[in-house]
Amino acid sequence: MIYYKTKEEIELIREACLLVCKAHETVAAMIKPGVTGIQIDRAAEECIRDHGGVPGFKGYKGFPATLCISPNEGVVHGIPTDREFQEGDIISVDCGTIVNEFYGDSAFTYALQGVAEETLELLSVTNESLYRGIDKAVVGNRIGDIGYAIQQYAEKANGYGVVRELVGHGVGKNLHEAPEVPNYGSRGRGIMLKEGLVIAIEPMVNEGTRAVRQSDDGWTIISRDKKPSAHFEHTVAVGKEKADILSNHDGIIEEIKNNPNLMNISSKR
Ligand code: MG
Ligand code: MG
Repeated sequence: MIYYKTKEEIELIREACLLVCKAHETVAAMIKPGVTGIQIDRAAEECIRDHGGVPGFKGYKGFPATLCISPNEGVVHGIPTDREFQEGDIISVDCGTIVNEFYGDSAFTYALQGVAEETLELLSVTNESLYRGIDKAVVGNRIGDIGYAIQQYAEKANGYGVVRELVGHGVGKNLHEAPEVPNYGSRGRGIMLKEGLVIAIEPMVNEGTRAVRQSDDGWTIISRDKKPSAHFEHTVAVGKEKADILSNHDGIIEEIKNNPNLMNISSKR
């Protein structure tokens, strides 16, 4: 069952998404060698609660934290730990909030100074693949058009592995609603995109093969070959001419510029 949202509901989801991005900005200003996942998780939770929101992931199916923090070979769903971030790490951070009963959801992968050139390229290709998917989130297209665009760019054009086991999703009063939004697929396949459809598009792209496995903590998904994996996510409302991106990464990119411990991913647009 797909819940199509009214304009008013879309504005509430935008509010939740913008609070997610504010939490990301807090995190982006903090990340440096020696800081831990637990520390940035705490700061993100404080930011969300200070602004009247509730962390969306904490307690969701028993997840214990505000952020999913998945370093290096971590794909998604990593639990914050007391491991200190190091030079050369990439850190995928996923965050959700609930504001006025609606969820927001957005992810970004941060690169500490010293990240290998190839891995920085993985990040910018994954980010660009997200925007290529978003370009297809318009009325009259089908869900498969989104996945096709992401897969073509990340796999065909750049030779990376697009993770199949985890997918994007509808967003609303539930964190994960129908429909599923795979990051692979065929043009013209799947449900027709209509106004009022709000979805999280979230390519997970591996530098090596697309194979993943669950790590021993029962949560973290890692790449099977232990090569780096990147994750970028926006929540978007399907639009007539173009999608309305409800989350916004501009503030994150500003914080990265101001944080000498982080490397900027090159934007392809
Ligand atoms: Mg997410
Ligand atoms: Mg999501």
